Amino acid sequence: MRTITTIFIIIISIQLSMAFTERELEIIRNGDTDTTFRVLLITDAIDSFTLRMQSSDINQDSITNDEDLQLLIKRLILTMNEAGGVGIAAPQVGVLKNIFLFVRFDNPEYPVQVAINPRIVNHPNETICFEGDGCLSIPNISTNSIRFPWVEVEYWDENGNFHKEKLMGYSREDDFTSIIFQHEFDHLNGILFTDKICTPSEDSEIED
Ligand SMILES: [Zn+2]
Repeated sequence: MRTITTIFIIIISIQLSMAFTERELEIIRNGDTDTTFRVLLITDAIDSFTLRMQSSDINQDSITNDEDLQLLIKRLILTMNEAGGVGIAAPQVGVLKNIFLFVRFDNPEYPVQVAINPRIVNHPNETICFEGDGCLSIPNISTNSIRFPWVEVEYWDENGNFHKEKLMGYSREDDFTSIIFQHEFDHLNGILFTDKICTPSEDSEIED
């Protein structure tokens, strides 16, 4: 009976968090910390298919001692910086796991945040039309997307620390940290900003 229970628990935990696949390990290990990843593009048929797939959680208990995960994070940071992006999600380089980076315009001392197994746990009912969304996987297109003006989020960072916070900021000119989080979070569910196109109107402005 105990054996059956143990097997059952093991199966449950496998479903909750997935190890890297052979293909993902191949991608992660095809370069060192000084090597950028190739960013998948919607203009390529196979890339486009991958960008539409659902990602899965990783084991958050072994964040700090998973060398492949740490290499993935370092290479994602380099790839984002080299491309001049403000965020990047693992599926954009072919790794279908729930991890992304977002630039913190709200915290200049801690510019790039790593988010592992992120969740959006609360948001207002109202939405805004964010002007000028863009994506490293969708070259030469910038348009407006429907977003929440703020989100309450949870995630783990690269040191295994748990974060729960409210992200504000939806102005392209000032701070749009919450928008970046929402954009990158969508990637984990195969959603692209071009799925959320909107037209800004006079009444799209919300009061704080
Ligand atoms: Zn994107």
